[in-house]
Amino acid sequence: MRPDILNPLFAEISLFKGVGPALARPLERLDLKRAVDVAFHLPVGWVDRHLTDRLDMADAGRIIGTLLTPVDYRAGGSARAPFRVLAADGQGNGVALVYFGKNSGWPRKLLPLNEPKFVSGKLEAYGENLQIVHPDHVLPPEEADTVPARESVYGLSEGLTNNRMRDLAAQALARAPDLPEWIEPSLLARKGWPAWREALARAHADPGDGPARERLAYDEIFAGQLALMLVRQSSRRRRGVSIEGDGRLRAMPKLPFAPTGAQRRAIGEIEGDMAQATPMLRLLQGDVGSGKTLVALMALLNAVEAGMQGAMLAPTEILARQHHDTLRKMTSGLPIEIAILTGREKGKVREATLMGLADGSIDILVGTHAIFQEAVRYKALGLAVIDEQHRFGVAQRMMLANKAERAPHLLVMTATPIPRTLTLTYYGEMDVSRLDEMPPGRQPIQTLVMAASRLDEVVDALARHVDGGGQAYWVCPLVEESETSDQAAAEARAESLRLRFGDRVGLVHGRMKGPEKDAAMEAFAGNRTQILVATTVIEVGVDVPNSSLIIIEGADRFGLAQLHQLRGRVGRGDKSSTCLLLRGNALGETSRARLALMRETNDGFRIAEEDLKLRGAGEVLGTRQSGDAVMKLATPEHVAALVDAARDDAHLLIERDGGLDSARGQAARTCLYLFEKDAAVGLLRGG
Ligand code: ADP
Ligand code: MG
Repeated sequence: MRPDILNPLFAEISLFKGVGPALARPLERLDLKRAVDVAFHLPVGWVDRHLTDRLDMADAGRIIGTLLTPVDYRAGGSARAPFRVLAADGQGNGVALVYFGKNSGWPRKLLPLNEPKFVSGKLEAYGENLQIVHPDHVLPPEEADTVPARESVYGLSEGLTNNRMRDLAAQALARAPDLPEWIEPSLLARKGWPAWREALARAHADPGDGPARERLAYDEIFAGQLALMLVRQSSRRRRGVSIEGDGRLRAMPKLPFAPTGAQRRAIGEIEGDMAQATPMLRLLQGDVGSGKTLVALMALLNAVEAGMQGAMLAPTEILARQHHDTLRKMTSGLPIEIAILTGREKGKVREATLMGLADGSIDILVGTHAIFQEAVRYKALGLAVIDEQHRFGVAQRMMLANKAERAPHLLVMTATPIPRTLTLTYYGEMDVSRLDEMPPGRQPIQTLVMAASRLDEVVDALARHVDGGGQAYWVCPLVEESETSDQAAAEARAESLRLRFGDRVGLVHGRMKGPEKDAAMEAFAGNRTQILVATTVIEVGVDVPNSSLIIIEGADRFGLAQLHQLRGRVGRGDKSSTCLLLRGNALGETSRARLALMRETNDGFRIAEEDLKLRGAGEVLGTRQSGDAVMKLATPEHVAALVDAARDDAHLLIERDGGLDSARGQAARTCLYLFEKDAAVGLLRGG
């Protein structure tokens, strides 16, 4: 249970003053649902307030602060027209202070005629004249110095202004309690960091406040490290089952190829872990196409040979079905039963699968998160494989698997190329196997970057490609951050391509119903459609070797890791492949460099390392947009700088106080709850 002290922070944002239906959509787009979300929605920059004693056309566009005297009122001609307060500086230069809304009483009261006021806001040119729309501050002159010299600028979405956002932030801050200190006192002193609440207030008031921001980042990193350690601790404490299969299934008559050296090595490491009674906690990192499925299958068969069951968790339904098919094909003729369970299996089918799992007649279960739900009882779960698209929620899922009576061995697979320096951050103290060698016979993928304005040429190239018997993916850009608009973009693109290519065009997006999605995928896999228009749902794992062209619209709006994943959809067959990245016309330095990097290399790990550096150079705070953000408060630079300290701190704390019972331990629990690592705290009690 979350400590009461945090309740005000977890209050719904709809309780805030002035949050009506009009703000619902903009807030939702930014994923701001509760006070804590707003509190952690830190400003992305600032503008300095230009303090001046005279109005000047040259300052239009800047935030100014100056002494003004109201000289006249102008009521709007119509109900919709704004109310204007005409004011003058010391030299008699004029400006209109503009107020929208019906009530003119309020600006009249705020700005009585002939009384000088300190006024601050954004100065704008309005024709020949100057105006300030809804000044941010209007104060008696003697209070002028209470106005901060910097104005925080927030990430916004349509319908949400910076002023409104600032107001929401202030309300969130007002709800933020003083929290007990979880940071080691000597570290706190050495870094000169403020206490939590002060840090939060300072980070909002002055985005350039390094120590404040750093402290908040540290909290987040610390919570992550601590959670991972608790998982590790609890899984170490629990007994697993030593598994050593006799190899009878793994003889694999069906295998069409010999494992690569890297696959062989990984399989060996996994077998070694599984032979121990301590549950395995291993991460299998391998670039797209490096052959993780085979490694997983070997581990699963090892468990089955020993009379145990295996489960494989996929991030999406499409991928679960594909894994299910692949595993069945690879094991056809073997005396084993492989079942699938997703949200779509219902009624009798689901019942039968649940029975089969409970009585042990099903050896391997593939599915989405449904496979770890309460109702699912395994007879003897020996191994859980998690095929993880992103690093999100790994710990959470590990805990789910931990619910079995005897802790199963755990293998987490990821194609997300995480820089070596960050592996620990995202996966804690897991053992790591890397597939650093591609299966033989891979054709390189040629990557080209083109301006979106050359769309006609692109479509011509697409026509030549499909007329020559090829297939292609067409990936649509992320529009805002909502699925609905992705869908609209994809639908529009499919429609326009159909004008030229007719029913050779298929469409798949995240909002489609399961069967519809499957049908679209199957049509493409069976070469009944030649062009598959898709949103990023095809990002993960989908395997159609005949498709050797991928066109990615709005490439500059994707994260590099994501682009790399998408590109990995091609280059799977024996043909050479092409990846066309369509970019917007006005690109910043960093975006340019990032796309150039994609052109230059196919090595996912290198891309990840370089991206980290590039982002360090520029869009430091821009990580949230691309959909590959992992942390809310910590930038990659923070992580690099602070993760060691956070790990040591968490380590020390757990060593001294493994149950988190001491005062500092309790404070650390609060920190875990603050970052919603509730499940990690749950492990404390279970143990
Ligand atoms: P990943 O899941 O790591 O992205 P997959 O397991 O889907 O990669 O494998 C990619 C492709 O490579 C599949 O078509 C698979 O059959 C093939 N493959 C895997 N291992 C080998 C190997 N040792 N030799 C040749 N092809 C392989
Ligand atoms: Mg895969």
